[in-house]
Amino acid sequence: MTLSVHELFSRRFDGDATSVVRSPGRVNLIGEHTDYNDGFVSPMAIDRQIDLAVRPRDDGQVVLYSGESTTAASFAVDDLARVDSWGVYPQGVVRAFADDGLAVRGFEGVLVSDIPGGSGLSSSAALELAVARALADITDLEWDAVDMALRCVRAENEWVGVACGVMDQMICATGVEGSVSRIDCRDYSTTPVVVADDVVVMVLHTGTKRGLLDSEYNARRATCIEAASQLGVGSLRDASIDQVENSALEGVTLARARHVVSENQRVLDWGEAMEQGRWADAGRLMVQSHESLRDDYEVSGPALDAMVDLALETPGVYGARLTGAGFAGAAVALADASAADDAAQSIAQEFPNRYDSEPLIIPSRPRAGTSLTKP
Ligand code: ADP
Ligand code: MG
Repeated sequence: MTLSVHELFSRRFDGDATSVVRSPGRVNLIGEHTDYNDGFVSPMAIDRQIDLAVRPRDDGQVVLYSGESTTAASFAVDDLARVDSWGVYPQGVVRAFADDGLAVRGFEGVLVSDIPGGSGLSSSAALELAVARALADITDLEWDAVDMALRCVRAENEWVGVACGVMDQMICATGVEGSVSRIDCRDYSTTPVVVADDVVVMVLHTGTKRGLLDSEYNARRATCIEAASQLGVGSLRDASIDQVENSALEGVTLARARHVVSENQRVLDWGEAMEQGRWADAGRLMVQSHESLRDDYEVSGPALDAMVDLALETPGVYGARLTGAGFAGAAVALADASAADDAAQSIAQEFPNRYDSEPLIIPSRPRAGTSLTKP
């Protein structure tokens, strides 16, 4: 029997938790490596989540257990020494609250997660927002989802030391039941793109984890800034595809800019296709996105290419692409609802013949963002 996070809390600490939070992972349908270029993304929160149960403490200590682990991540709320475990994520959130002059308080808690980590489904943003939601509750801070998402981005950028864009925290905090959110990463406005019952989103986790991502990711970001500067625009969001094609950009810089600028347009086109029920067109745009990420942005990998190829051979699949930063981890597919179960089963069965790894297929409806569920 699986214990609820509330029961786990009571076993670990005497008595009851005072706040229980659920915080979802996410999958990005289209718009990859565009968030840090002020562009558009189309993610949704998924049916995988972190549940966190906490209770305030009076000694200024934060003590958190993850799953069945018997060692806690712990730190004092006023401690400026960076912890060197996963506790750096909750610590970063607490620091970001304090930096903004918000009240902080010690707390103890237990979290459980069914989001595969390090695979592009954003377990890190789910963890940050879970901690932020719990801390806001015990300090009586009014919840402002966008504000808190940006605070968590700062926690990850400045405290954890990962130069992520805003997509993960934004969708984790603001996800809407039943819709993908098109997020404008320049002004943080979101537009819902309804996912009709005719189609199913499938997360196709290859069972592989990313390796040396950070240096590659930072290199891509630097090249985008360089390309924007050569084009004379503030960010690649402001460049048109004609401008890129007719520019003096060359080689890798040209290819990277071509990906970002064409990807922004694909996000807009994809939203229109989804709204109009043109599933084949939506699928085709996802495939173009994958090809652009593979050939121009060079962030795919053998497991991801094998998964996308397999998905595209599978009846009922309209389109598939890598999702998240890339290299390894998860892909995502759009499938016809009537064929999705068979497609999921056949992909799960066949994938190990194509690549030496055990896949995990997660059909998912778009879910709401981080929320409080009192015990
Ligand atoms: P992703 O966000 O794509 O899953 P990241 O590398 O950004 O991958 O974040 C994964 C990290 O987040 C883990 O290495 C761990 O430090 C932390 N993390 C995520 N979920 C949990 C959890 N349930 N318990 C403890 N740490 C977690
Ligand atoms: Mg992450």
